[in-house]
Amino acid sequence: MQPKLIIAIDGYSSCGKSTVAKALAKKLQLHYIDSGAMYRAVTLYFLENYIPIPGPEEVHDFVYDFEKVLDEVHISFQFNPDSGFSEVYLNDKNVELEIRSMLISENVSHVSSIKAVRDRLVALQQMAADSGSLVMDGRDIGTTVFPNADLKIFMKADPMVRANRRYKEMQDKGIEVTLEEVINNVVGRDYEDTHRDESPLRKAVDAVVLDNTHISQEDQVEFVLNEIQKVKNQAKSSI
Ligand code: C5P
Repeated sequence: MQPKLIIAIDGYSSCGKSTVAKALAKKLQLHYIDSGAMYRAVTLYFLENYIPIPGPEEVHDFVYDFEKVLDEVHISFQFNPDSGFSEVYLNDKNVELEIRSMLISENVSHVSSIKAVRDRLVALQQMAADSGSLVMDGRDIGTTVFPNADLKIFMKADPMVRANRRYKEMQDKGIEVTLEEVINNVVGRDYEDTHRDESPLRKAVDAVVLDNTHISQEDQVEFVLNEIQKVKNQAKSSI
């Protein structure tokens, strides 16, 4: 039996983490989990149910029974044979498209700063590894969720390049948005995700940096496959 392989991919907003993670999952037959989709699904629940969302300044002192709210939130992933990937479900409803809207993007960093939300989702993410090898992307996968991951990749790219990629992606999906809105959102989320108290986005000390400003998707996947091979070789030589 192959040993379990855990690959953590973290990085800034719209770096193409999920594109690389999906390609790896397909190539290596690994389970893929988009942890950002889980935070987005919780955000959708908060908005739909008028749950108050504290801003960055009030998040510490905000008194609200988020635990009780989260007891009503059930997030799961189901494989879609058409796309070849798992899609996210909120209380048994497929919300894969809904969670990509601008309204969710504008609120998700506030929701993901709430300690109760992080505690709940981190526990779920860790449980996902019980069923075998996986690749997971997000902001704190290598630092908090899987600090002992076999391979940690930290992705970054020029903010304007990221915003342009995101803008194009949203246009392709038919989401109405301006480039300026996307730039503000990408930069704003980066700021909030790196400055929150609860497991902020930062590079794990043992993560390998992948700056993909000028690198094609194929080359990014090659880069990570090469790093995986190094990890495997190291494991073999230490037996
Ligand atoms: O990956 P994506 O851009 O969809 O993530 C949406 C948001 O979810 C991030 O901006 C961040 O606030 C939050 N997130 C997080 N921790 C993760 C993954 C996502 O806080 N592991």
